[in-house]
Amino acid sequence: MLILSRLFITIEDLVEEIGGFNAVQRHRLWMLRYLLSFSRSTSFTRNIVTIEENLRITPQREEYLKEETRRLQERVCTPENKIQLEEWDAQIKELQRRYWKEEREWYRCESLCPPGPQKRGFHAWRATTDWYHHSALRYHCAGRGECCGRSCGCCERRGIEATGRTRLAVGHCTVECGCCMRDRGFDLTAEEKKEQHEAFGVMLRRPNDAFVERIVAVNIWGIIRGPKDERVWGSQ
Ligand SMILES: [Zn+2]
Ligand SMILES: [Zn+2]
Ligand SMILES: [Zn+2]
Repeated sequence: MLILSRLFITIEDLVEEIGGFNAVQRHRLWMLRYLLSFSRSTSFTRNIVTIEENLRITPQREEYLKEETRRLQERVCTPENKIQLEEWDAQIKELQRRYWKEEREWYRCESLCPPGPQKRGFHAWRATTDWYHHSALRYHCAGRGECCGRSCGCCERRGIEATGRTRLAVGHCTVECGCCMRDRGFDLTAEEKKEQHEAFGVMLRRPNDAFVERIVAVNIWGIIRGPKDERVWGSQ
């Protein structure tokens, strides 16, 4: 088994040397699909994409509350404003606790990634700091009417300003993005946010869905099948 594993790695190295990043990622995906168990890896990919969506929601809400806090602090401090500020402060602390738990959940899920081409492919893609600027992910963000469809640069900024604490939360907008909220002119109710979040989870569980496979493949491998599968930044 060890010899086979070393052989796989040697072949991957050769493919990368000759064909580059996209070629080796495509080769790893092919290995996984046709030579190794694909079902286990499918549950890993869908789980990690779901956890990452949760990881983005929490700090985006925290950022929005901090922005609102700064705005309110600039005004005259009335008793009502003071109560509001205390409320937001408590919510921010609660969000930080939640993020801490979600971060641990990400590491737990990542540790379950099947060793082999899947793990190497995932880590190779995530080692590129700008992985989430893949044109297909930007296109998906813009298509939902979120920040990549405007010139605000929020999605890029999340990567530039990421700290050790928030580096796992880089990515595109969620229902909690403050910029998107201001652009659409209203906040969603808690019920509407829950609906949207559940719809995302349901979508990810759809078997043999071309759109889901595309989104998952870009998140995990950095490639998609078809004419748009090159790793091109900012071309959409
Ligand atoms: Zn924005
Ligand atoms: Zn946004
Ligand atoms: Zn975006």
